[in-house]
Amino acid sequence: MHYFQAVPKYCYNLNMSAPVKIQYLKGIGPAKAKLFERLEIATVQDLLHYYPRTYQDRRLNTTPNEYNSEALVVLKGRVLRTQLVPAKSILIFKAVLEDEKGHQVECTWFKKRMYRAFRFDPFGQIKKDFHVNNEVWVIGRKQDRGAMFATQITVEEYYVAADTLTKLHAGRLTPIYGLTEGLTNKQFRQFMYEALQSNTLTETPEILPPALLQKRRLLSAPQALKAIHFPNSLAELGTARTRLAYEEFLLLATAWGIKRTQTKILAKDYSYTVKKKLLTPFREQLGFEFTGSQKKVINEIFEDLLSTRPMNRLLQGDVGSGKTVVALCAMLLAVENGYQAALMVPTEILAEQHFLTFKRMLQGLPVNVAILTSSTKSAEKKKILQGLADGMVHILVGTHAVIQDNVQFHNLRLAVIDEQHRFGVKQRSKLKEKTSKLDLLTMTATPIPRTLALAFYGDLAVSTISELPPGRQPIQTECATSRLAYDRVREEVQKGRQAYIVFPLIEESEKISAKAVTEEFEKLKKIFPEFRLAILHGQMSQAEKEDVMADFAAHKTDILVATPVIEVGIDVKNATVMVIENAERFGLASLHQLRGRVGRGAHESYCILVPQHAGHVAKERVDIICATSDGFQIGERDMQLRGPGEILGTRQSGDLEFKAGDVFKDRDILYWAIEDRDELLSQDPGLTKPEHVLFRQKLQELYQQNWHLIDLS
Ligand code: ADP
Ligand code: MG
Repeated sequence: MHYFQAVPKYCYNLNMSAPVKIQYLKGIGPAKAKLFERLEIATVQDLLHYYPRTYQDRRLNTTPNEYNSEALVVLKGRVLRTQLVPAKSILIFKAVLEDEKGHQVECTWFKKRMYRAFRFDPFGQIKKDFHVNNEVWVIGRKQDRGAMFATQITVEEYYVAADTLTKLHAGRLTPIYGLTEGLTNKQFRQFMYEALQSNTLTETPEILPPALLQKRRLLSAPQALKAIHFPNSLAELGTARTRLAYEEFLLLATAWGIKRTQTKILAKDYSYTVKKKLLTPFREQLGFEFTGSQKKVINEIFEDLLSTRPMNRLLQGDVGSGKTVVALCAMLLAVENGYQAALMVPTEILAEQHFLTFKRMLQGLPVNVAILTSSTKSAEKKKILQGLADGMVHILVGTHAVIQDNVQFHNLRLAVIDEQHRFGVKQRSKLKEKTSKLDLLTMTATPIPRTLALAFYGDLAVSTISELPPGRQPIQTECATSRLAYDRVREEVQKGRQAYIVFPLIEESEKISAKAVTEEFEKLKKIFPEFRLAILHGQMSQAEKEDVMADFAAHKTDILVATPVIEVGIDVKNATVMVIENAERFGLASLHQLRGRVGRGAHESYCILVPQHAGHVAKERVDIICATSDGFQIGERDMQLRGPGEILGTRQSGDLEFKAGDVFKDRDILYWAIEDRDELLSQDPGLTKPEHVLFRQKLQELYQQNWHLIDLS
């Protein structure tokens, strides 16, 4: 940290003009700026770095007789004639277009019929734009039913060919952005276009050292930004991503490189000895034997704890592999030595659950466990804070409330972080600050390939639990229709088991997802009138969520209908069916995590995927999940699936989140960055040469904003 503070002040803001607030971009203003705020876009610079979520291929690459019902139809043609067709409850507007090769295609729009007295014409604008002979672009889907023409399509978007901005939306690889309610992709592309025309783009400083730009033949920053938003070809998109990914990787790798030289000097000013005063009785009353893998990782962790340098270890193990007890062993070693330990988890539901598990496993032992979350009542909280300060509380379980400023420990020495990738940006950095002088154990079920972790993090130690506890029932995974899935649910619940039915998040907004799942919940209540159903989603209050989880754990309800909020860590042994609706909308890692919610007890368990519109990749994902239950293998397959050929696919957020780069797909670029980092730091360890000053400044900026990627330190 001191490293950066040594930078002379006059280096700051070299060449960098003041950031322009987003509201001053043409067409935005204060109201729209609020919407952008939700996407964490405050300045034009932020907007430029808000990369497309995916791209739609809207180049003309098919002719009408090649249209199929799955792919997007992109058509450019002249209007031949139009017709308004009144039907009972809807109005239909039809336009026949002729494309350049003389194919005729009928386009249709459907609108609800309005109250007659209402003079508004729902097709007013369309009629204006579709006058005979006008040239238009149409984006839509092929319609199969009752086609009078060889090809009929339902229109999703259209653009008048002569409009200047049409070139942003049609006839090209078109960027699709992650939006928020109130913004459309069309608007977003136009704002982005404005931003790309502005001085902000041309004044974007080149932070990469010129020698590296040349060595790797990278695009300049403005070129790359232009091309990532409006690529002229897949190849250009590729080079833009390469540049931006390289920059991200190089920054992180350098930060790690510097960190590594710093931490080498550090030594702990406390030490442990293995007394077994707690560990032995704990093991005796546990009720099961550790697996070989668990023993191995416990040894690795203990070795770290007993050494003179602070531990920085990542514990990875598949869903259900038993990471919690391993963490508990480490915490008991701390407690045996008179120290305190804390376990931090990303959600309150999970905190509650770990707390109960710990209390159960530590029954009769002289260990005080407390739980602290943002909904802990203030009287209770006061007591806990007192206990932490005077050392009466030995183990604290909690959410990020644990790292708030008013929490003072007597002698905290060990911090364990569960599912660390789920923590928000701010929480992670705070966590890092609070834990920098402690022994730190981070746990994850989303494995990072070992070579990658080592290459990247350098001295981050990795422990892997490679087997599941014995006696686990393999989970039967299959694809089926809703009806068959519900039959299975009914059968199991009648036997006294419980079930989850999960719906995907709808990406535009949490609110919409909550509404969607609520609607489904109402339907499901009618399908299962004889059972007790409960609903769980992200918009409910914490207390509500906890009640719902507690009732489900106590078998007061039979079926839990939920969004993926239950994805992580939930452990209800009596639950034996997991139904995943719209399974094609989930990534491999999520599917695997969700499946891990069942098969936790002695009963045979089922995971049933119900896909809706299975595209090619989606189907492959679903097939992989059905075929294997090994999380590491799934991770590898995921990587293959999302290989370089799949640039047009959707991005999946993983453990290491980069905006442009992807540690799996862009491995080669990652290795470039690591190699170049080593060279850079060996030539100019302080990054003080003039050609490195901007790079160093950027690094410092990110570091001061507590860049969430530097969080495993
Ligand atoms: P995860 O690694 O996904 O966090 P958990 O720690 O929640 O897994 O463990 C899953 C379940 O397996 C828990 O109910 C835990 O008590 C149980 N468990 C852990 N280790 C063993 C073992 N060696 N033998 C039997 N059951 C175990
Ligand atoms: Mg866990």
